[in-house]
Amino acid sequence: MSYDFAPMPDENGYFGEYGGQVIPPQLKEIMDDINDAYDAVRQTDAFKQELAALNADYTGRPSPIYFASRLTEQAGGAKIFLKREDLNHTGAHKINHCLGEALLAKHMGKTKVLAETGAGQHGVALATACALVGIECEIHMGEIDIEKEHPNVTKMKILGCTLIPVSRGTRTLKDAVDSAFEEYLKDPVNSFYAIGSVVGPHPFPKMVRDFQSIVGVEARAQFLEKQGKLPDIITACVGGGSNAMGLFTAFLNDEEVKMVGVEPAGLGLDTPDNAATLTLGSKGAIHGFECYNLQDGEGNPLPVYSIASGLDYPGVGPQHCYLKDIERVQYETADDKECLDAFMTLSRLEGIIPALESAHAVAYAMRVAGSMDKDQTILINLSGRGDKDADFVAEKLGL
Ligand SMILES: *Cc1c(COP(=O)(O)O)cnc(C)c1O
Repeated sequence: MSYDFAPMPDENGYFGEYGGQVIPPQLKEIMDDINDAYDAVRQTDAFKQELAALNADYTGRPSPIYFASRLTEQAGGAKIFLKREDLNHTGAHKINHCLGEALLAKHMGKTKVLAETGAGQHGVALATACALVGIECEIHMGEIDIEKEHPNVTKMKILGCTLIPVSRGTRTLKDAVDSAFEEYLKDPVNSFYAIGSVVGPHPFPKMVRDFQSIVGVEARAQFLEKQGKLPDIITACVGGGSNAMGLFTAFLNDEEVKMVGVEPAGLGLDTPDNAATLTLGSKGAIHGFECYNLQDGEGNPLPVYSIASGLDYPGVGPQHCYLKDIERVQYETADDKECLDAFMTLSRLEGIIPALESAHAVAYAMRVAGSMDKDQTILINLSGRGDKDADFVAEKLGL
């Protein structure tokens, strides 16, 4: 199947029937301003060079591709490779879009950048980018996540951002989004809402994807150079879907490359405690855009769950919804138990402690590699490192 991703989304921000701007008219004007500023600035050499220089000298790009030989041996089939986004400054892929968003906010003359955070990774990456660019930063975070992700909370404070604890509702990511968005609506002219994934109203799914697409562009060239061919399968975990879109975008036209997004099955797909939005969800609107949703009978978002805070979101990026419907990407799940097993296995066989989010993709690769030929290959986007999860996992497993 051929897939031309360049024109996606259309001018109204739609990927097929998903995306768009499900927002009040005054906010639509603001979003259209951001879209116009983005479309204009991303073409300029000055912006491209500034971002490229920061990606190289600040973040440490390109991140390497690593052949995980001991993991491959244990899985007993296809060769498993890792795209090492965990080695980026701040420890995850999120710095890729945070630098882009902070630079754009500065370019637009905004005085404050606002955001929500789940695992704290987006908060740390954004607070980092704002410190670098020299712009005020305010982060909203659920109280449950604040307890669970203590090291990231401390880092955000050190980096100089204002941290707002969110005590309403589920006290996790979904309510942090609502809280940050309400604050943003008080002054959308002077502030910039830096969304942490390929979600939200147009143009955010497009912008965040574009800033993340460097992951796949690098990976595709690196893999071709090292292996002389493209990978048979590329895979990434899917929460909102930014690291997955980052990897997938450069491969969309490569029909021979199978793409697999991995959602969190949590305690099981037959329990309410999961966040497998594409697998179990239905169509609806959330946070200003149309996508698959985990919702109740009245269209309200369900309280979702994953062992990985960064994946427990009841919506998902609109481009993923489209790619699922046209069957260009396959969406699978991994549960908490498989995720913990993958976390420990990668740590002990390769000396690489993955983020619990990324461990979902590792779990999927371990599951399928054994039934593939030894000359076949799987490339995993290792979206982040597991320092933030180490204490939590040790306690959970009684280490
Ligand atoms: C936030 C996060 C994710 C989930 O976000 P996506 O937008 O789905 O990529 C995945 N991995 C890590 C390490 C994260 O911090």
